[in-house]
Amino acid sequence: MSGMVFYKTDEEIELIRESCLLVCKALAHVGSIIRPGISGAEIDKAAEELIRDHGAIPSFKGYGGFPATLCVSVNEHVVHGIPSSGQVFRDGDVVSVDCGAYLNGFHGDSAYTFPLGDVDEEVMELCRVTNTSLYKAIDAAIVGNRLGDIGYAVQHYVEREHSYGVVRELVGHGIGRELHEAPEVPNYGKRGRGALLKEGLVIAIEPMVNLGRKEVRTESDGWTVYAKDRRPSAHYEHTIAIRKDYTETLSDHSPIEQAIRNNTNVKPVELKTETV
Ligand code: MG
Ligand code: MG
Repeated sequence: MSGMVFYKTDEEIELIRESCLLVCKALAHVGSIIRPGISGAEIDKAAEELIRDHGAIPSFKGYGGFPATLCVSVNEHVVHGIPSSGQVFRDGDVVSVDCGAYLNGFHGDSAYTFPLGDVDEEVMELCRVTNTSLYKAIDAAIVGNRLGDIGYAVQHYVEREHSYGVVRELVGHGIGRELHEAPEVPNYGKRGRGALLKEGLVIAIEPMVNLGRKEVRTESDGWTVYAKDRRPSAHYEHTIAIRKDYTETLSDHSPIEQAIRNNTNVKPVELKTETV
C-alpha cells in the first residue's frame, strides 16, 4: 500500500458502488445457501461463479497468493480463513464471509458474519454488537472528523459499553483502483486524532471483534487469523464514500439480510436498538 491517498470523483464513486453491490449480491447468494453441512469450498465456488457471470473478477483470488474468492472464517477464526471442502459448517457456528470484486477498474469490499442454527446467545450478542459498531463508525466518518474518530466510535462502543476485544493487528483501508489503498482505518483510536476526513475519500470500515481477549495469532496455513484464546470472533464490513455533506454507504447489506430471513438455517443479526 502506498502512502498516497486517492480522493475519488463522483464517476469513480459510482463505479466503486457497482463493484460493492456485486459483492453484496454474492454475499446475499451465500446467505441463501449457507447451512450446517455445506462447505467453505461450496460457498466459495458459488460466489466466484456469480462474480464471473457478471463480468467481474474476484478481488481476493491471487491477492498476495490467497487461493480463493472468499475469506471464510469460522468461530475463533477472525479473518482470512481459506475456504476448503474439509471446512464443513456445523450447527452453532458463526461464519464470517469476506468478499471483494473488481469491475470496470475498481474494487468493492464487504463482509458479513452468518450465525448458523442454534448459536449461543452470548455469540449472537457479539454479532449484534459488532454489526452495530460498524454503523457507529460510519456515523463518525464525516467531513471534518478524523480517522481517530472512526476508530474511537468502534472501540468505545465495543470495549467500553460492552466488554469485547477489538482486534488491533488488522484494519480497514482505502479502496479504489487497488483493493488496499491508504489510509489504514483502525478500529481503535482517539477522538480528534489522525488524518482529516475529506470529500472523495472512499474507505472500507471493518470492525473485527473478539468475544474474549483482543490478541490474535496466525494459523500454520500462513493466512487464517484466530483469536489467541480460541473464543469466537465476528466481522462486518462496508465500503463507504465521504461526500461533502453526508456519507454514503456504497455496499448494501439489505439483500444479505433479506436472504437470511428466507433461510431458516441462519439466525438474523438485529442491530442494537440504541442506534436504530
Ligand atoms: Mg473485506
Ligand atoms: Mg476490507
